[in-house]
Amino acid sequence: MYTLLIDMDSVICDLMTEWHSRYNRDYNDQLSVDKLKCWASEKYVKQECGDKIYDYLDEPGLFLQLEPLPHAIEVLKRLQQKYEILIVTSSRTYAYTEKEQWVEKHLPFIGKRNLIFTHRKDKVNGDLLFDDAPHNLIAFQSTGRTAIAMDYPYNRTVDVPRVANWLQFETYVHTYFRES
Ligand SMILES: [Mg+2]
Repeated sequence: MYTLLIDMDSVICDLMTEWHSRYNRDYNDQLSVDKLKCWASEKYVKQECGDKIYDYLDEPGLFLQLEPLPHAIEVLKRLQQKYEILIVTSSRTYAYTEKEQWVEKHLPFIGKRNLIFTHRKDKVNGDLLFDDAPHNLIAFQSTGRTAIAMDYPYNRTVDVPRVANWLQFETYVHTYFRES
């Protein structure tokens, strides 16, 4: 059975909407994910915010409030019937518990037992990675395996296959493993 490694933030769950809405509220701005042309969020916030944009990621309860991205849960349910699913996520110190709780709540059929916390996804055993972060996509691809990007403006400079949503990912996976 093939193993799919699936990222959490901005792939399964919508981190950016909640993160940006907290920043927009405090700094009276209109940041949204379509404005991020690269991974460095601090470049797109007001100067008085700067690196403090990352402090929001340490706010208790932030991760518990995230919504699943469209079709993520139903597609994961279907894929799990044919593939082993492992969720691979890097995490800030305070988010570990909340991410476990999120998976138990929204993805009980996967469960926290299949949740791997790591900053080195390229070292995890698995046949394919679905991620949005440029550094993860590049590192995983350099191991000779396939990394698929969830398409965002900030990862378009990375030369990997990309999909715009979960339904496209589902089709991609079925085609890819049928042909490989
Ligand atoms: Mg991510």
